[in-house]
Amino acid sequence: MADEIKTTQEEQAESRNFIHAFIEEDIAPGGQYEGMTVHTRFPPEPNGYLHIGHCKALTIDFGTAEKYGGLCNLRMDDTNPTKEDEEFVEAIKEDIHWLGFDWGDRFFYGSDYFEEDYRQAVGLIKKGLAYVCQLTPEEFKEYRGSIGVPAKSPYRDRPIEESLDLFERMRNGEFPDGAMTLRAKIDLASGNFNLRDPVIYRINHLPHHRHGTKWCIYPMYDFAHPIQDALEGITHSLCSLEFENHRPLYNWVVEHGDLPSRPRQIEFARLGIDHTVLSKRKLRKLVEEGKVSGWDDPRMPTLCGLRRRGYTPRSIRNFCERIGVAKSANVVEYSFLEHCLREDLNETAQRVMAVIRPIKLTITNYPEGQRETVTVENNPMDPAAGTREVTFSRTLWIEADDFLPEPVPKYKRLYPGGPECRLKGAYLITCTGCVQDESGNVTEVLATYDPESRGGDPADGRKVKGATIHWVDAATAVDAEVRLYDNLFSDPDPDAADKDFLSCLNSSSLEILTGCKVEAGLVDAVFPASFQFLRQGYFCLDSKDSSPEHLVFNRSVSLKDSFKK
Ligand code: ATP
Ligand code: MG
Repeated sequence: MADEIKTTQEEQAESRNFIHAFIEEDIAPGGQYEGMTVHTRFPPEPNGYLHIGHCKALTIDFGTAEKYGGLCNLRMDDTNPTKEDEEFVEAIKEDIHWLGFDWGDRFFYGSDYFEEDYRQAVGLIKKGLAYVCQLTPEEFKEYRGSIGVPAKSPYRDRPIEESLDLFERMRNGEFPDGAMTLRAKIDLASGNFNLRDPVIYRINHLPHHRHGTKWCIYPMYDFAHPIQDALEGITHSLCSLEFENHRPLYNWVVEHGDLPSRPRQIEFARLGIDHTVLSKRKLRKLVEEGKVSGWDDPRMPTLCGLRRRGYTPRSIRNFCERIGVAKSANVVEYSFLEHCLREDLNETAQRVMAVIRPIKLTITNYPEGQRETVTVENNPMDPAAGTREVTFSRTLWIEADDFLPEPVPKYKRLYPGGPECRLKGAYLITCTGCVQDESGNVTEVLATYDPESRGGDPADGRKVKGATIHWVDAATAVDAEVRLYDNLFSDPDPDAADKDFLSCLNSSSLEILTGCKVEAGLVDAVFPASFQFLRQGYFCLDSKDSSPEHLVFNRSVSLKDSFKK
């Protein structure tokens, strides 16, 4: 790592990985899983694309298995018949592979256990631990009780035979949606409402994306999940904190079902990031309402969006490792994610010169028609990256803001009568004036160069007082479109419950610049190569819209680090 100073996040990561502590206890001599292989699973619901919050979960799931030489299953949580889609299944697999994790041949669908879920439910009824309840949804609400007031159901003590018969007929499609449910018989007076005889099956006459109309009853997540875990031999079922209150129910199913193993559920805090939303429902809304160009819009916190933006797998994995695994809610600064990317690209990205808001510079004492090449380094952080040749001539493009007709205090760049400046890798120049149009706009900057300063250093060792600026030879420069991104939301907390997240959008989150001038060599660039545009930031080709005829670059992250350690 380039940076030896530990961030607060990293210190927390080291001291707070309580999951590892629990696992080590479990596999130690005398522990409940002594001698067993640590086995985790990542269970995404295929109803949207993975986002950075999922990355935290899957880094924990796959990373924990890796750490203990164990296994991690990928399981599509598709027990709910609504909304699931094969498109998302493939995208989820692609995203996980891209991050560098692999599930081998352990890919499953939660819905493949429907038959077994049903068998488990029948087993519970037979043990007197589940019953068919015919409360209407309205009655159900009315009878759920409150703190200190138990829930009630007149069907609780119906004979086992009657529940068995009704449950089978539910399966056979004899009843409409909502007519009855199967409930676990646990404790109507429990202080934990999840244990107040929770519904474990409901009727839903919706076809399932993989099983068609075979089923019209579907198991609830809290019932299906522990069964799936136990059938797959999962030892540690790691999930986010909202399931903490469901753990007693998870354990109840594991204890009372007829299951081959006893997995343990451990919860960790969900990841929140400022200036963005991390909920598939909200992300979908942004797409549907056209607020972004799609799930892979480079401003989206989705993995496909981050990838298109130029994020590397290494930067995201580093981020997930460094934010740590805490039990208390953690909102991380978006600037920390950017910091992790910058750190990675600083080591690996090739440096190039690109002028994004160009103005012409003419070197009046450089012979017309003359051309030469100068050598510039590809990456000062990595000498092995070598050097490249760029052409130089009398007419160059420079950034418009590297020139001012009248200097402001402390301005060290080009202005008439100003200090000598260095053209990166080429020559020293002194500004002599400019050309303006009738309305006073500067159309061309004029300068003279010191022919003895080739490479950028004066022959007599005099001090160069002005700045080093980047440039591109106008004769060989290639046009490009450059897209500059800012936070998608101007409000730091658009996800807050009391806010309409759509009204928190940042109206200037995308700025498109055309007619930018880049080094000719960039025509050969291929996604996902990243470049540092000197003095500007890190950029990558847009994987969708860029072509050699029309180059489009996305700014992945600026050079300025706003993350405070
Ligand atoms: P969303 O609200 O975005 O739909 P979800 O929890 O319903 O989230 P799933 O596809 O069910 O999405 O999530 C798969 C796994 O990822 C779950 O184990 C879930 O706990 C975890 N996960 C989802 N969002 C986050 C987050 N922000 N931080 C950490 N883990 C998360
Ligand atoms: Mg979910």
